[in-house]
Amino acid sequence: MFSRHLIMVLFLIAGAAVDAAPIVIAHRGASGYLPEHTLPGKALAHAQGADFIEQDIVLTKDAVPVVLHDIHLDATTDVAERYPGRHRDDGRSYAIDFTLDELRLLRVTERRDPTTGVQVFPGRCPAGKGSFRIATLAEELDVLTGLDHSTGRRTGVYPEIKQPAWHREQGHDISPIVLDVLRQHGHAGKNAACYVQCFDGDELRRIRHDLGWEGRLIQLVGKVPPEHAGGEPLLAAGALADLARTVDGIGPPLGRVIGPDGEPTGLVTAAHAAGLKVHPYTLRCDDLPPFARSTDEALRALFLDAGVDGIFTDFPDVCTAWLRRHASAESSGRSQIAPGPLAPKGGPLEPVAHQPLFNFDDHLDRQAEKDDQAPHAAAE
Ligand code: CA
Repeated sequence: MFSRHLIMVLFLIAGAAVDAAPIVIAHRGASGYLPEHTLPGKALAHAQGADFIEQDIVLTKDAVPVVLHDIHLDATTDVAERYPGRHRDDGRSYAIDFTLDELRLLRVTERRDPTTGVQVFPGRCPAGKGSFRIATLAEELDVLTGLDHSTGRRTGVYPEIKQPAWHREQGHDISPIVLDVLRQHGHAGKNAACYVQCFDGDELRRIRHDLGWEGRLIQLVGKVPPEHAGGEPLLAAGALADLARTVDGIGPPLGRVIGPDGEPTGLVTAAHAAGLKVHPYTLRCDDLPPFARSTDEALRALFLDAGVDGIFTDFPDVCTAWLRRHASAESSGRSQIAPGPLAPKGGPLEPVAHQPLFNFDDHLDRQAEKDDQAPHAAAE
């Protein structure tokens, strides 16, 4: 336990290199504050110090990869008003039935239940407000590259290839298209700050062994089905070692890492023994997991007790602040983390003591150096 804490402190003191554990992954952006998968939400996540920023990717009718969580458009856009009658027999409107030009006309909104229209997270950005749009994968990567350049930070990307088998049924092979865009933006290669994630294990094997992708891969896993009687299936003999032949880590739900009793399930220890990283999803301060009564309790269980390598969160600012506070407490020899302004379970989100954005102190130092070197304008 001590050595893991020490390693975490050293990583944090070293300045949060994007490859170093533990990492904060902005889940669909800073989704706790702005609508998911919008460029403003991604820019905010960058500003909040996320180490990695997630993109979920689906294809348009003209085979352009766009950043959307669902293959449907109903829960996060105004498609029903903009394109009435363009839904399929199941009543849903699908991104793949629209060209990019058509999708560009849609307004993106905070997520709503598509049948009731009720906002899923009532405390978040009000649904239907603002003017948010769908971005292509290339556009988003350009924005993040630009922000890295202008802030001096290096932020990783965490693209998920959505439903490759379904895309094939619709006549499109999504993986090579996505990988090409990633390559064009410098995100290929073993050491690139990029994790490609997918729920489809067959597709991940294809990406690794047939499509020649050398970059990091994450096998996403869902909840253990209630009817599964044998305990955690990933703890079965050989299961994790088998995954490690293809992927670099796993992305399980929080509940497969910490049990309802608040204790680690053993999955992280077993995954580490197999050489796999563990990045569970999704920590939401306004919808805490059953094992925690506060965000602080959840983060302690995940990072300190279970030892996860990173976390998907809708609140990157809260998680980065917590990790920094923890590192600071460790390095000063205090055994307790000072109480933080973190959201209580079920309660409103309290203001967070934001850390300097963009390593702002460094930025000011650099600016002061530049000013010193520049010819003084004051004499003019
Ligand atoms: Ca995802």
